Amino acid sequence: MTISKDSVLAELKRVSLPDGGDIVSLGMVRALTVDDGTVSFVLEVPAELGPRMEPVRSAAEQVVKAMPGVGKVTAVLTSHQAKGAQDPGPPPNLRIGRHPTGGNARVRLPGVERIIAVASGKGGVGKSTISSNLAVAMARKGLRTGLLDADIHGPSQPMMMGVSARPKSPDGTKIRPLSAHGVTMMSIGLLLPSDEAVIWRGPMLMGALQQMLQQVEWGELDVLVVDLPPGTGDVQLTLCQRFDLFGAVIVCTPQEVALLDARRAITMFNRLKAPVLGLIENMSHFECPHCGGHSDLFGSGGARRMANEFGIPFLAEIPVSVPLRSSGDTGMPVAAGNGPLAEIFGSIAEALA
Ligand code: ADP
Repeated sequence: MTISKDSVLAELKRVSLPDGGDIVSLGMVRALTVDDGTVSFVLEVPAELGPRMEPVRSAAEQVVKAMPGVGKVTAVLTSHQAKGAQDPGPPPNLRIGRHPTGGNARVRLPGVERIIAVASGKGGVGKSTISSNLAVAMARKGLRTGLLDADIHGPSQPMMMGVSARPKSPDGTKIRPLSAHGVTMMSIGLLLPSDEAVIWRGPMLMGALQQMLQQVEWGELDVLVVDLPPGTGDVQLTLCQRFDLFGAVIVCTPQEVALLDARRAITMFNRLKAPVLGLIENMSHFECPHCGGHSDLFGSGGARRMANEFGIPFLAEIPVSVPLRSSGDTGMPVAAGNGPLAEIFGSIAEALA
């Protein structure tokens, strides 16, 4: 059966917003394509609605999926600043990189139910890729989700989430986070010029993390995912000692040297009495799209054994995948779409939720 764009729009007209009106009449449905049973479209929503729109996106996907003859549906959420919207003011004068303030008492962020850190012993193992996809997968499960890019020396979330706007601050003190794919997000990369290297040491790193957590207006969140820098340094210590951290997810590859560093990260969280919620093995194998052959590029089995040894859940094996890499480069996390990789992230989000 041939499906027309008009018939898809007619179905989408049934999807309403919590405050009234339907997504078609409000002009939110963009870039609709129908190709042989595969339907994809973008829901463009005002920035301030972003965090509340995931259930609407999911409902839009469901009504189209239910149409006879429709196989695959991809609905992606993007946000924009409404024309004529009140200018939210200049960027805050953060003096990012100042020394930390306050005593040693643990801080609970008002409105934020849980902070989950994504950590790795070693850089380049896919921690940021997994943080963004995990956050999007959690938002798709209906959780009010935030993402803080605390990888201060190499912030990559603006690119991975497809966000480049400079955050504003109406009062010059609090920072308004941005929204992408149903996730409220902030990155130090959005506050500094993109090609500027951050040359900071201990106290400045700790101060910057504190500012990103406490000066950003996170709003009401069920979970805030924090993409940590690699290693076991000052940022990790600050998060564990000064904030009410719910737990950490460790990312590693099957390579021996990555496992060794992951072991150090687990030991650090154990010492700091921060629960390790699970281990994710990234780049676990490669299925050749040409010959169909399976290769264990970086070895196999080590991460699962390590999880068993420490008695922590083994959450997932994520293969080396060109779409996963390219989706990070284009700001469209795979978890926002459909397919086996989106399902893997969905199941990790489910396990953690
Ligand atoms: P980290 O945050 O640990 O430094 P990144 O998430 O930035 O790692 O990943 C490093 C690079 O590897 C990025 O270019 C990313 O797109 C790529 N990458 C991560 N995981 C995969 C994967 N499973 N398959 C293919 N490329 C990946």
